[in-house]
Amino acid sequence: MSDVLHATQVVIEQALKRLGYGQDMIDLLKEPMRLLTVRIPVRMDDGSTVVFTGYRSQHNDSVGPTKGGVRFHPGVTETEVKALSIWMSLKCGIADLPYGGGKGGVICDPRKMSFRELERLSRGYVRAVSQIVGPTKDIPAPDVMTNSQIMAWMMDEYSHIREFDSPGFITGKPIVLGGSKGRETATARGVVIMIYEALKIKNIPIQDARIVIQGFGNAGSFLAKFMYEAGARVIGISDVNGALYNKDGLDIPHLLDRRDSFGNVTNLFPKTISNDELLELDCDVLVPAAIENQITEENAPNIKASIIVEAANGPTTLEATKIISERGILLIPDVLASAGGVIVSYFEWVQNNQGYYWGEEEIDEKLRIMMIRGFENVYEIHRTRKVDMRLAAYMSGVRKMAEAVRYRGWV
Ligand code: NAD
Repeated sequence: MSDVLHATQVVIEQALKRLGYGQDMIDLLKEPMRLLTVRIPVRMDDGSTVVFTGYRSQHNDSVGPTKGGVRFHPGVTETEVKALSIWMSLKCGIADLPYGGGKGGVICDPRKMSFRELERLSRGYVRAVSQIVGPTKDIPAPDVMTNSQIMAWMMDEYSHIREFDSPGFITGKPIVLGGSKGRETATARGVVIMIYEALKIKNIPIQDARIVIQGFGNAGSFLAKFMYEAGARVIGISDVNGALYNKDGLDIPHLLDRRDSFGNVTNLFPKTISNDELLELDCDVLVPAAIENQITEENAPNIKASIIVEAANGPTTLEATKIISERGILLIPDVLASAGGVIVSYFEWVQNNQGYYWGEEEIDEKLRIMMIRGFENVYEIHRTRKVDMRLAAYMSGVRKMAEAVRYRGWV
């Protein structure tokens, strides 16, 4: 993940230089303005106490409160949380949300913890970071291996600390506690909107589109469902164990029915291909929706898709981005393609603040408008400034923040 932080910093620097900013702005925005490390003692079910390490990174709050998920994962590191908070700033900037980026994480393995241990850890995390978070300071959300139940415990704990009901403290809550309709599917819906925009540019009708999706978790499986329902052919999908391919299109409803809660399904089938082979399949749209660093300088020359839409965070290395752009493949970068989640999180916060709730159709339409506006801005920068789509997205993402920093007189 340190590679990913470095890669992000390289592109942030390029973006700020292109926008005419100097080294002072680069120095400020290359790193989070605040990073809190916390130690969280948790009483386990067997009576022992385990002390967990957690983080909260706040990239920059010149535009408004910071916003971003909390992940519970054994692989969480300080560097990862920092990189993820910078990405959140870029997503919020591209979508024109009144937020900077934030991110949190706890080094733990939720799969090995009981329900009550997880509750105690979630509440302990909120107690540990409570002084720097809040509905007008920094608003957490779900991320890898955290869910609406964990958000509910965190919101309850924060409400106890502050002695008032604070639904706007956190997003991704259950609907009955002020969660928003459409939050669960928001990332995939956003990716679908990006696929439609990219297909329009490449003049490919949706019915003719052959789609390959790496990863069959929350993002990948909803995306496969929506693409299948739209009449596209999803010819390849994969999970951590392998990949499935059928040139005539896979039976997505059947696969959705068989997948487990961790997004595994390929292990049920005898005839699979590898994830490496999946990425190089002949298709129109390739969607990496699993983990980082999947498209590299080794496989980028062999990719046959004419469009790559990055649903995952950081799936393509900097070197591969260059190769892909030179080959004329249209890349919709992660900070744009996967912004649907934070956009609907923003809607949740707005609804909490106003105490009035919208229906799913209204949410979907508002999401569509914001994603398309974000796409058009990035594509326009790509075209007029003659930069690749990733640099264009970073320029769009960091522009408002840099302006806000300057107006505030910070640099
Ligand atoms: P998830 O944990 O629900 O699913 C991950 C999927 O990827 C699973 O099917 C898993 O088997 C597969 N996978 C894991 N390692 C793999 C490997 N080495 N090769 C191939 N497949 C592998 O995760 P998710 O929520 O769907 O997120 C996927 C990506 O999208 C992540 O990069 C995440 O940061 C990004 N993302 C997700 C959201 C969201 O709302 N879920 C929002 C923004 C970005």
